[in-house]
Amino acid sequence: MTQQDNVAPIAQLRGVSKIYGQGSTEVKALHGVSVDFHAGKFTAIMGPSGSGKSTMLHTLAGLDSVTAGTITIAGKQITGLSDKELTHFRRDHIGFIFQSFNLIPTLTAKDNIELPMRLAGAKIDKNWLEQVVASLELTERLTHKPYQLSGGQQQRVAVARALVARPAILVADEPTGNLDSKTSSEVLSLLRNAVDQLQQTVIMVTHDRHAAAIADRVLVVRDGQIVADLDHPTADQIAQVA
Ligand code: ADP
Repeated sequence: MTQQDNVAPIAQLRGVSKIYGQGSTEVKALHGVSVDFHAGKFTAIMGPSGSGKSTMLHTLAGLDSVTAGTITIAGKQITGLSDKELTHFRRDHIGFIFQSFNLIPTLTAKDNIELPMRLAGAKIDKNWLEQVVASLELTERLTHKPYQLSGGQQQRVAVARALVARPAILVADEPTGNLDSKTSSEVLSLLRNAVDQLQQTVIMVTHDRHAAAIADRVLVVRDGQIVADLDHPTADQIAQVA
């Protein structure tokens, strides 16, 4: 029994199934997935294209509904919430990082970072903002607009934007998909630091085993099911399973 066994998971999926379409166009994207995620851990989700990785990430982040099963995040069952309740829940509890950085081109880095909290009418903790910005080495870039920043810097702004609200979970969907290998490792180290230094919980979908190897845990998905649950695997160990 590990220490984690005594602590309620930050995210829990129970018998989660997801079917897209109907009849002849029906696709079973997830088949009865049950899994727990613990706070302060970095989990990577891997698997072949079409295996259900994004569907798992999107349902657990409340971006997509489930066909069956329950999802509980930070003690709240989100399956069954109305769209409006879900929008509020996501805003208060989930941080998002996407492959395309999704920054507003006309806003400075600082305004992009603060925008979600301003829209939510939430109070920005200046000390925390400074700490996040410094840890991402963005202090000198805050007045720049996205077009004045490199791809890696833009993704760092997106990471800062996600972290500043102190989300219960940070979900990242192929966060290094648009970056070269050097910049990818920088962004991955930043996510790793967010877990190690800021106690953030990160769940990341990736098809890159080297990216996955930075995680504490790697889930391998195939045909809508988790077929392997690996503890601190190396890239070679991941390659053997995935
Ligand atoms: P992955 O992220 O591993 O590539 P996905 O979760 O995107 O896999 O997709 C799993 C399966 O569900 C695939 O067969 C995909 O075509 C299907 N799928 C995903 N999203 C939709 C959708 N919005 N409508 C219909 N089918 C979908």
